Amino acid sequence: MSRPVPLPWRLLPALLIAILAACGGRTTVTVGGVEATYQEARGLKDTLKAIRARNTDAAPDGTPLAEIVRRYGETRTALVRDLGRIDPSALGEEDRHAFEVMQRAPGIDLGEEKPPPDAPAAAKPDCAYDPAAVAKEGFDPLSERIYACYGQATENLIFEGKTLDRLTVFSLLPITGDRDRRRGLFLSMEPIWKAVNGDGGPGSPWRTLVRLSAARFREKNASIESSAALLGVDPGKVEPWLVSVLEAWRDATAGADLEPWDFGHAAGAMERALTPHIPRESLRPLNDRVYQDLGADPVLLGVEYDIEPRAGKDPVAYTDFAARPRRLPDGGWTTGRYRVSASYAVGGPGNLNELLHETGHAVHIAAIRNRPAFLDWPDSDTFTEALAELVALDLYDPEWQQRYLGRSVPGPDALRAKYSGIVMDTAWALFEIRMHRDPSLDPNQVWTDLMRDYLHIRPHLEWSWWAVRGQLIDLPGYMLNYALGAILVADLRARTRELYGARPWGDTTWYPRVSDRLYRFGLERPSRQVIEEYLGRPVSPDALIRDLRGR
Ligand SMILES: [Zn+2]
Repeated sequence: MSRPVPLPWRLLPALLIAILAACGGRTTVTVGGVEATYQEARGLKDTLKAIRARNTDAAPDGTPLAEIVRRYGETRTALVRDLGRIDPSALGEEDRHAFEVMQRAPGIDLGEEKPPPDAPAAAKPDCAYDPAAVAKEGFDPLSERIYACYGQATENLIFEGKTLDRLTVFSLLPITGDRDRRRGLFLSMEPIWKAVNGDGGPGSPWRTLVRLSAARFREKNASIESSAALLGVDPGKVEPWLVSVLEAWRDATAGADLEPWDFGHAAGAMERALTPHIPRESLRPLNDRVYQDLGADPVLLGVEYDIEPRAGKDPVAYTDFAARPRRLPDGGWTTGRYRVSASYAVGGPGNLNELLHETGHAVHIAAIRNRPAFLDWPDSDTFTEALAELVALDLYDPEWQQRYLGRSVPGPDALRAKYSGIVMDTAWALFEIRMHRDPSLDPNQVWTDLMRDYLHIRPHLEWSWWAVRGQLIDLPGYMLNYALGAILVADLRARTRELYGARPWGDTTWYPRVSDRLYRFGLERPSRQVIEEYLGRPVSPDALIRDLRGR
């Protein structure tokens, strides 16, 4: 996934282009010529990423890494030079769009290849600091300090004499049967809560940070909700939508009375029931069969899997281009190559879901057929992530489970498994919206109210147990992407069932048909346009709410 680039670096290529244009004059460079260079640079960059992900020092054809870095540098320089020789005002609409896409790339994901910096010794952050003093330096220094202390705390949780990390604690909560042990696991996270929200008073690190964050949004005349406009959602509707999702969950789980440490366990019945039937060795065969049944055989599409655990591997699962397809002179296309990277030491529905999600990314990008400038991920990460879930969420359908796993769990267990994470993300998004609207509120109170009113979780004002997501510290407002993403996923899935069948498993025309309407565009069209043309209307939360209400 792409990371934001600090502003001066983003401006640099434009500056370079302007200088080169001034020196070199506007000679005869065509958009098609530049695009060939662009395609070459992209291809070399894809190769570099694939080599590094495999921790090797040569391409599959034996070309050494250093040689590819050299060729990439030359091609990139030529690209920046030639872009400067194009006069955009002389271009037609589509070429101008292609030109703009290519012009942005050197400042984003076609950056210069630099030797890796000498790894500085990881210094322990000073976590006995005065938030008000750090806040005087601005949002970033305070956010970085809280994040460093949060990160340190997440790695050092003590439970029953053992040191665990945050994700291990999360993964143990749904499968730990004994309530007292669950309570102990939950309370082992207290150092994280304290690293983020100190004693919980108005001068706490996060409460200080949220005041700076709210002021920053105000200065830009923006709000957390305003990002929704990119997907065609009226910012004014965001909060009522999130509330209506939480209300549907509240009603679907009526009668529950939970402690915070019980929530994961109550949602974990499907995980507990199906784990013995999804051994690690079955993950790949199941994954391949699911997509073959829809006409998207991952092997034939050029998807390569790197899913064995290995030291030094990126801990986060991801998918990317390894080599983009190219149009042949006869109008046909070469087969591209796509890489799925993940680490599976065990099986179970959680890992199967993740593998299906990553393959969802791969079959999406494998369907993109467009000119080189547009042959890329779409312009919205929310849309991209929604497309990855199009097939993966079938895992929560008991009929699907019966077909692929030979057994199934009752519908309510599947529903809780499917939506427990989504309603938590939705609650975090709402929490951030309310805290940004009025930063003087006590976050523990805001969180406690949400948990009690919608998730049937007993109040514990004394604990800042909301403070376990890093995004709340370094990317205020980001949680809304997950909440809106879930709404978009449900809407796209409902529309896909309507168009191509509720249970299309075994219909190999599914993939070509969905590719044609949804997958193939890349950067050619804004995501919002693709979504609205597919749905025949703007996005709406109705599909998700219907699903939650079992209708
Ligand atoms: Zn993804």
